[in-house]
Amino acid sequence: MPASDYASRIRRLAGVLDQLGYDAFLASSPVTMGFLHGLFEGGGERFLTLAVNRSGDCRLICPGLSATQARRQGVQDVRPWNDGQDPMFRIAELADDWGLASGLIAVEDEMRADHLLAIQKTLPAALFRPGREVIEAFMGRKEPWEVERLERAGAIADAAFEALLGWLKPGMTEAEVAQGIEREMVQRGGGPGFCIVATGANGAEPHHLNDQTVLQPGDAVVLDFGCSVERYPSDITRTVCLGRASDELKRVYETVFRAHHAGRDAARLGAPCQEVDRAARRVIEQAGYGEYFMHRTGHGIGLRGHEDPYMVEGNETPLAVGHCFSVEPGIYLPGRFGVRIENIVCMTEQGCRSLNAEPAPEILELSV
Ligand code: ZN
Ligand code: ZN
Repeated sequence: MPASDYASRIRRLAGVLDQLGYDAFLASSPVTMGFLHGLFEGGGERFLTLAVNRSGDCRLICPGLSATQARRQGVQDVRPWNDGQDPMFRIAELADDWGLASGLIAVEDEMRADHLLAIQKTLPAALFRPGREVIEAFMGRKEPWEVERLERAGAIADAAFEALLGWLKPGMTEAEVAQGIEREMVQRGGGPGFCIVATGANGAEPHHLNDQTVLQPGDAVVLDFGCSVERYPSDITRTVCLGRASDELKRVYETVFRAHHAGRDAARLGAPCQEVDRAARRVIEQAGYGEYFMHRTGHGIGLRGHEDPYMVEGNETPLAVGHCFSVEPGIYLPGRFGVRIENIVCMTEQGCRSLNAEPAPEILELSV
């Protein structure tokens, strides 16, 4: 991204700070600093923060070993500190220069506690607030070029799914299947991602860790995976059956499919995020499986695989153009099987648009 785009992001962030009444925002995660200024670098245990104020000034306080790289990324105001020094002299200096001693400061949620505690000790009269609402307002709505990357990552995951239907067989282990899926994504240009393979009873664990479980004929297999394209991820879930599906598996799959679409249909501009969750959950409850759907319906997706806005009860954020998120209801029957169906969607002027191919309306029964 050109430097001028980063400058416009800093200006927009300053506008959000002004609107919400904050004097400054302190970013510290590589993702947020990368988003704001192309600095995809964290300090780890060393103190590093990108500070922005409501006038649009931007300053980086960083370990001396990161200073050259930061300047090369176009950060003009770089204030290094060196090992052996207490970096808080840079915070005191920042507070003097920007008048923050008794200011209202939004701090990125991911800042380390030891770093924030040191800042609070240095500025005892300042008020600190969680920076999440600042970031949500700022990063939640994707620009068209970001949506385009999410869509390309989605297309790679979709193609990997089509390909795996040709080789997924009983006798393979979950770990082997996961390696195969990762290979399919890499071959198509996908960058690092993730892959959950949960067969049979393991499918009832939504975040199952792949192991050496061998796929058996008749198993429902939950496949949840994604890759990345220029740092933007994909995330889809498909559930298939190895051989003939039982009547109950067919019924559960059909219920989850209807819940998935009910969630998408509820995703309208201006509708609160919780409506997406409610609509999907209602279908599952009405089918009698409510207690077996124990997670939220979806999460936002961007530079982070999971981020605001969340499709969850209690989230009244109205859906707006550029919001990208998953719709992924599931039913998990302990000791038996699980079904989840997940697509990523994007809010446009015309409404909700899927960034993935459509899931099958009936469970796919693979020949074994
Ligand atoms: Zn997923
Ligand atoms: Zn997801």
